[in-house]
Amino acid sequence: MIDPFLAGNKYRKLHILLQTPSNKLNKIISYGGTQSNAMLAIAAMCKKKNWEFIYYTKPLSFTQKEKQDGNFFYALSLGMQHVEIETELYRDVIDSLRFNLDEKTFVIDQGGANKGAQIGLEVLAKEIREQSTASLINSNIKSLATPSGTGTTALYLALSLPEYKVYTTPCVGDEVYLKEQMRALHEIPENLVILKPEKKYHFAKPYAEYLEIYKKLLACGIEFDLLYATGMWKCMLDQTKEDILYIHSGGVTGNESMLKRYKSKGLS
Ligand SMILES: *Cc1c(COP(=O)(O)O)cnc(C)c1O
Repeated sequence: MIDPFLAGNKYRKLHILLQTPSNKLNKIISYGGTQSNAMLAIAAMCKKKNWEFIYYTKPLSFTQKEKQDGNFFYALSLGMQHVEIETELYRDVIDSLRFNLDEKTFVIDQGGANKGAQIGLEVLAKEIREQSTASLINSNIKSLATPSGTGTTALYLALSLPEYKVYTTPCVGDEVYLKEQMRALHEIPENLVILKPEKKYHFAKPYAEYLEIYKKLLACGIEFDLLYATGMWKCMLDQTKEDILYIHSGGVTGNESMLKRYKSKGLS
């Protein structure tokens, strides 16, 4: 709820860049999927900062390009420049992005995974601690939950809040992939608990049980995203009993197009 396009945890992960004076940089480069909340958050940041934003993806289908809603459409309308790379060349091009960069260009890895995110998540940790001390949130609650893509958010949150148990679950890939991603940033701390989904869910696919959770939460007055939050909620409902403070990472701008996909599958 920090900003309509700069979704919650992306705002934290981009903290250092958001604090960087506009004149220090003039270009941001990133890459990844076209449904990405990170892509949209970077586009919103670059618009505010008046920085150029180049985003690399694998080739898109005609329908993806023509869509008038969803994160890709919004990011383009915020000024993002999109570059398609042939699938066979994709890895090589991505690996070479950091070659010959000038000092005013910054590369952000897929999903905003970077060590600089630690500082932004320490700020979030401080806010949680202060609100607990001030009893703005129930100070008896000693567990947090936040879903994982790259795992950057959950990892740094757990490191910054050792007095809390931090639950997460892999929404992209499996537990092995998630741990690998996390270990590339830091050793995984003991208070980080990875819950395994009870069945295999593919990222960004419609599932009836996810829609049901989404609708129940919406009826309670909070809209969550359909790609990550629903998976985390499912695990919490199935596998935990205690009171948990849920960290809402935003990212609800993709719901509009996801709900259309649900509808086209006969789910609504
Ligand atoms: C990006 C995102 C995540 C995953 O964050 P990571 O730090 O990559 O694990 C989770 N939920 C939402 C809504 C997101 O946009």
